[in-house]
This record gives sequence, C-alpha cells and structure tokens, in this order.
Amino acid sequence: KPRLRPPILSSDLLSLAMDREEFRRQGKAMVDFIADYFASFRQRQVVPDVRPGYLRPLIPAEPPQAGEPFENVMADLERVVLSGFHAYYPTANTFPSILADMLSDAIGCIGFSWIASPACTELETVMMDWLAKALGLPPITSSGGGSGGSGGGGVIQGSASEATLVIFLSARNLAIQRLQAQRPEAQQQPSLALSRLVAYASDQSHSSVERAAMLAFVQLRKLPTDGKRSLRGDTLARAVAEDRARDSSLFWLLITTLGTTNSCAFDNLAELGEVCQSEGLWCHVDAAYAGASLICPSTDTSPTESSFHPKQLADSFNFNPGKWLQITFDCSALWLKDSSKVVNTFNVDPLYLQHEFSGLVPDYRDVHWLHSLVRQRLHCTTAALADSVGSAFSLAEDLVRSSRSYGIEGLQSYIRKHIRLAKQFEELVTADDRFEIVEEVLFGLVCFRLKARLGSRLYRRIRVDGRIHLIASEFEASDTFFIRFAVCSEFCEAADIRYAYDVISELANEVLSKK
Ligand SMILES: *Cc1c(COP(=O)(O)O)cnc(C)c1O
Repeated sequence: KPRLRPPILSSDLLSLAMDREEFRRQGKAMVDFIADYFASFRQRQVVPDVRPGYLRPLIPAEPPQAGEPFENVMADLERVVLSGFHAYYPTANTFPSILADMLSDAIGCIGFSWIASPACTELETVMMDWLAKALGLPPITSSGGGSGGSGGGGVIQGSASEATLVIFLSARNLAIQRLQAQRPEAQQQPSLALSRLVAYASDQSHSSVERAAMLAFVQLRKLPTDGKRSLRGDTLARAVAEDRARDSSLFWLLITTLGTTNSCAFDNLAELGEVCQSEGLWCHVDAAYAGASLICPSTDTSPTESSFHPKQLADSFNFNPGKWLQITFDCSALWLKDSSKVVNTFNVDPLYLQHEFSGLVPDYRDVHWLHSLVRQRLHCTTAALADSVGSAFSLAEDLVRSSRSYGIEGLQSYIRKHIRLAKQFEELVTADDRFEIVEEVLFGLVCFRLKARLGSRLYRRIRVDGRIHLIASEFEASDTFFIRFAVCSEFCEAADIRYAYDVISELANEVLSKK
C-alpha cells in the first residue's frame, strides 16, 4: 500500500517571498534573461572597467526592512552585477547544466548518507563508473560497493584542490599508522611521525599541492623537471634515495601532474609510477584540465599517450569535468584504486548518521569520503533534460546531464574542436616570425612569447587594450616569460581565434615599433 503524505494545503501555495504562480512567472522570465545574456556575450566588455570597491555605492547601505518585488532585484542585475562581471567566465557552462542546477536546487537533496537520499548516492556511484568507462580508466577504479570495503571507487569533490587535500590527509594518516605499527614509540608521539613525512611533486605542480602540504603539516619537496617541464622517474628515485639515506623521512606520496596549469606539460607517469611502486609511495595523478581529453580515443588527441596512458600505475586520479567537459563549476572527479584507504582512515560514525545499510553502501559524507558533509551541489536533477521523456533522477547532476545531453560523441567533438582551435592559433603564431611557441601544443592551451623579449610589455598592452583577455606566466627556472592562450568557451569559433591573433599582432606591432 503506498504510504501517502498529508494532502497539500492551500497554505503550501503561499510563501513569504514568492508564491508558486509568481515563481512560474519569474522563473520563465529568468530563463529569458539567461538566454538573452548568453546572446549578448559578444557585445559585452571582456574585462570590466570597474575599480575595487565599485559595488558598495551602487546598493543601499542597509539591508531592506521590507521585502521588495522580485522585479526590483532583477532590475539591479545589469547595473550592479553584470557591470562588474568578467567575460573570462563562464567556461564550461552550458544550457543543460544551468537547467540541471535549477532542478538540483529545487530538490535540495542533502546526500550525506545513503539513507538521506538513496538516489543521490547511487546515481553518483553509477555516474562515476560511467565516467571512468568513458575515460578508459582501469576497471579497478570502478565502485566495488560498500563504503568500508576495499576496491576502487569514484567520488565527486568540489575542486581539484579539495581532491588533492583528501589524498594528502589520507596518505598522511596511512603513513603515520604504518610508522606507528613499526615503531611503538611513535604511538606516544604522533608528532614524531609527522615531522618525518615527505611528499613529492614537480616544480610545475599546481599551487593547491603546496597548500595541501601546508594544511596537512608535511614537507613538500618540489622536484626539478626536464626541458619539457616533465618530472622524470630518475629525479624522483634520486630524491627518495637521498631522503632514505638521511633516514629522516618517511616516504609516502607523489603528486604527479598530467597537464600542468602553467603550460600543460606532462609528468612521465610511466617512469614515476614504477618508482612509486618499488618505493611504496602513493602515486596520485592530478589531471584537472587535461584528464577530460581521455574521453577521446588516444590516437586522435594526445601525442603524449605513452606517458599519459599507464593510469594503472596510479593509486588515485582526479580531473575536473568543470574545466573541459561541459559541466558547471564546481566538480572534480576523484577515483581511488583502493577506496578503503580514504574511507577507513577518517571513519567516525556518529549515531545520527548511521542507518540500517551502513557499511553496505557508500556514504559519501566527509567522515568517509572526506567530502564536506552537506554535499550541496550533488543534488538531484532530471537526467534527460535534453532527452524528451523518461526523466530519471540524476544525482551526479551534471555528469548525467553532460553525458546524456551531449553523449560521449558530443563530448569528444567538443574536446577535438578546442584542440583544433588551439592548433589554428599555434599555426598563426608559428607563421609569424615575431613570435615563438614555448611549449608543445597538445590540447587547448598555446604558450607563446615575443622573440624580442618584450613579452611583458606586450602583455601589459593587451591588458590595457581589453579586447581580449589572456594570462601570462613564466618558467622560473629558465627565466622565461610567456603568454597563455587558452580556448575555453563552447561558442568559440575559428573567427574568434583569428580575431584574437589579429589583436595580438596589432599590439605587438605597437610594442615593437616603440622599442
Ligand atoms: C586548475 C587546476 C587545479 C585547481 O583546480 P581547482 O578545481 O580550482 O582546485 C589543480 N591542478 C591542475 C593541474 C589544474 O589545472
């Protein structure tokens, strides 16, 4: 017999701020507003003119005593918010993902345990398995089931930085437990073990690696890279041998990067994985941006496949679907070969979070998978927003949205298009002898500079000009300043690439003529 809730009362239709009919009206208006906003991108300034502190004078100093009509709020959007908005974003933001977010907010599911919303947990598990298959990750990374069990599994984290921190804290605790098992005196003094922990990463790793080391209170050794900004196995092996000789360190973690933020360089995972296996280090792969390219068959994307491929050598792997897979920020997919390493190290089970299936199903809350307890964004969503009927729930909201609305083929063609556009820009720059490319172009990023060493002057000129927005960076070791050209938007076309090149070329002429 179906268990029914009490019938809807007419008072349910009323709410202090907005009733249901008004919501229908305003909701439709909001969708129109969003569609118009997307249509207006090309008329908007790339970089806003506003100065710090611009916003405060535009709104009243005091919060309103009485509520205001929603129209008033909307009327202020352009004047207050969009005037100070940066066209840098949105990047991986698409209509289906906006609709998915709307629904997930409406359902408001808080999936801190399986029982809190079985659909939420199960869909996340299945979506992570789908995604692992789509990327061709080794089957071991797929879910084995129980939260306390061994076996692989994926979990959605908010950001790559969070994923790295999860790995740091888990690997640290495992190392401390291992040391305490070997040396009973360390049990009395956990700080003794802490002071001996060393993590390794390349000097090109993302700043979040350094921050995770700080938060985890462990030393981070940043190892030098080769001429292609790649961390090699022999460099790691040497560092480990040095630390071993001093006996001052317990080795426990390597963070490798596939697709560095700076220049999209690749550590040599094949070599590093082997060193990690023989030395007993946890090998984590941070592929926040480039990992998405694995959705394409290797032949047509990555010439670095030989170093990219042996993912079986890694213990954990993360990438951000929010960077390059058409999913709204924030979403970072993390897989572990042995999820118990994370689950068991931080398992605290208060009574109020227990349920009759505890231990048999994953509970993706922080005590188990270290995600923040209230997994606010991983809510329900209709899977098939772009499909016509059959709106099954999707919890790993955007993943479903993305994989079902676009399909694997759609996502592949999106990745290929960005690579093609980056190649187009590379060709324009290569054909122009004022410039040089500073890093092999593999994906959607082109790092280039003025041969005349006036790169920073050109860069400042581009910033002031404001027609396009680029980010500069440098290789500190070789004192090389360069400009990064990144293809980000779904709506970017060949004509945009040509336009950007023409702007850069024109400004380079100015800079060079004033030399
Ligand atoms: C972007 C990036 C990060 C940081 O990602 P967040 O999700 O913003 O924390 C980390 N590592 C690499 C390689 C990146 O490209």
